[in-house]
Amino acid sequence: MLEILVCPACLPGEYSLEPDIARQDGNDIMEGSLSCPVCGRAYPVEDGVAYILPEDQAMRSYDTKYEMPPVVASYLWSHYSDLMADPEATTAYADWAALLAPGAGICLDMGGAVGRFTFEMGRKFDYAIGIDNSEAFIKTARDIMKSGGRAFDLPEEGMILKRVQLSIPPEWNMENVEFIVADAMYPPFAAGAFAAAVSLNMVDKLHRPLLHLQAADRLVRAEKGQFLLSDPFSWSTDSAPPENWLGGNPDGLFAGHGLDNITALLHGDMRMLEHPWQVDADGQVWWKIRTHRNHFELIRSCYVKAVR
Ligand SMILES: [Zn+2]
Repeated sequence: MLEILVCPACLPGEYSLEPDIARQDGNDIMEGSLSCPVCGRAYPVEDGVAYILPEDQAMRSYDTKYEMPPVVASYLWSHYSDLMADPEATTAYADWAALLAPGAGICLDMGGAVGRFTFEMGRKFDYAIGIDNSEAFIKTARDIMKSGGRAFDLPEEGMILKRVQLSIPPEWNMENVEFIVADAMYPPFAAGAFAAAVSLNMVDKLHRPLLHLQAADRLVRAEKGQFLLSDPFSWSTDSAPPENWLGGNPDGLFAGHGLDNITALLHGDMRMLEHPWQVDADGQVWWKIRTHRNHFELIRSCYVKAVR
């Protein structure tokens, strides 16, 4: 992965990071740092987890709600409940995975949370990388990657928890996936490094969603590339001021629905992306979040799948 990593703080300049290895396990850096030769920033690697955020502490404290155990359990349920044969599970992740054609190269899962879609993409591509700015999510995803599963506590009612066991199907290849703590607006990779990029249920959570789309445009190779974005478009001032949203405004540059505006952006209508895309599918996937045994949120996530 070192070959495609660049300094996120120096973007759009692309400067490779230089490793300083304190402890290594096979090909994995376990402890050390990755430094930018231009700005001098050093990105830590702690217990195998690389933290490659443009503004380290600022970003880490920004989304602290994603670091809490009940939130991690809720995401684990959303990602993996179908594998645990939960009767309330949806097939959302398998539905999204079916939209990508298998191929050579690397797939980037942006905002991959606890890792389900990165594992799905590891089955379709030579390699898959999941990024998220939540340390708890990335540690959880790497734990599942290393041990093939995880036991966790699902809230049942009040303070009653139920211990459940996730086991990844043994035929899934966990050797060709990796996870790093990184930001979906400043993903620290070289242009054209990826065969595909994916953004699931995240664009409405970003402070500058346009930067995220431009990053995906930059990272996916100019020919035979794929991009999948799916989102419920729950725009909120908790994440970004309305002028930054890509939809949900009655007037302005991005007036109307987010899906329509992102489709137009991808087509190159607005001349905000370098390499225009062709949209080859759109539709919706029903996605579910579980709070406790009697409380679920059912979310319509609208997707656009593009190729070039
Ligand atoms: Zn730099």
